[in-house]
Amino acid sequence: MIVVMTRSASAAEIQGVVSTIESQGMRALIMPGGERVAIGIPSAIPPEAREQLYQNLSGMPGVEHVTHVSRPYKLASREFHSADTVIDIRKVSFGGPQIQVIAGPCAVESYEQMSMAAHAAKEAGATVLRGGAFKPRTSPYAFQGLQEEGLKILKEVGRQYGLLTISEVMQPDLVGLVASYVDILQIGARNMQNFPLLIEAGRSSHPVLLKRGPSAILDEFLLAAEYLLSHGNQNVILCERGVHPLDRSYTRNTLDLSAVPVLKEVSHLPVFVDPSHGVGVSRYVPALALAAVAAGADGVMIEMHPEPRKAFSDGPQSLTPAQFRALMGQLRQLALAVGRSLPEQPILS
Ligand code: PEP
Ligand code: MN
Repeated sequence: MIVVMTRSASAAEIQGVVSTIESQGMRALIMPGGERVAIGIPSAIPPEAREQLYQNLSGMPGVEHVTHVSRPYKLASREFHSADTVIDIRKVSFGGPQIQVIAGPCAVESYEQMSMAAHAAKEAGATVLRGGAFKPRTSPYAFQGLQEEGLKILKEVGRQYGLLTISEVMQPDLVGLVASYVDILQIGARNMQNFPLLIEAGRSSHPVLLKRGPSAILDEFLLAAEYLLSHGNQNVILCERGVHPLDRSYTRNTLDLSAVPVLKEVSHLPVFVDPSHGVGVSRYVPALALAAVAAGADGVMIEMHPEPRKAFSDGPQSLTPAQFRALMGQLRQLALAVGRSLPEQPILS
């Protein structure tokens, strides 16, 4: 059971609800949320006490409504929040009828590389430019990213082309720094259960795209999102990016597209799909990007590099600008078939 307080509920009213729950021998869990406090009752409520407790709490001052949330995650659940969450960032909506496309290279390598990528992304109708500056590489000898210099380039190029920006943050003490440069923080698959990072990003109101860990079941993924929500950040986008495959002979990961309709059903948060990391082979990326939108995704994240063969990281899964343009044409048509749309294509000089 979860008690949702009104926006103007006072500390005394919140305490009144907590005391009522505790007087029944149950634990009350205060979840700050963004605009209003919710109070969860994590313990099992005896069926005979449920209706009486529901009635008592519903009538208390400062209480907006009381709902039964059976899922382990509460604030991320549709039982708690029935309408789709739509996140608006500088006039771009995530989770609304429009499909958003995030595009750009795996890593920021140079100003010229980002300019070329941004031009291709913007021209084809993408709204967000991606580029890693702090890279979570499997090998410590692999390119680790340009770090703050990379963020400066991303910000400057994003501003020039009128694109929102996204980049990964890997450690809690860098949340503020990365957030000062980008519009959306990315929490990568490897860090999905980096709890100090989730808590710090949760304390900021900066939008976060949270990727599913390669071995995470959906409840673990949604509980990771719950960390962000319960620490006050309501601007959370979920992103499926593939799980560990049974066999790496053909694909890097297995893109779990079944996660899309499931997540859309059980959660109100926007759901994105990253087919680039999901499959790891550029020629398979378009099919899976299209399938993601057909399955109900609110957007896709595509790795695209001006010259994939020269990429410092993830070249084999990166589309060329021409391949990206072709995919965007297909996505545009497909979106209409499922009652969605893509943003207009701007005319660039
Ligand atoms: C990335 O987006 O470049 C990345 C490292 O993704 P993931 O965390 O999904 O592996
Ligand atoms: Mn990558």
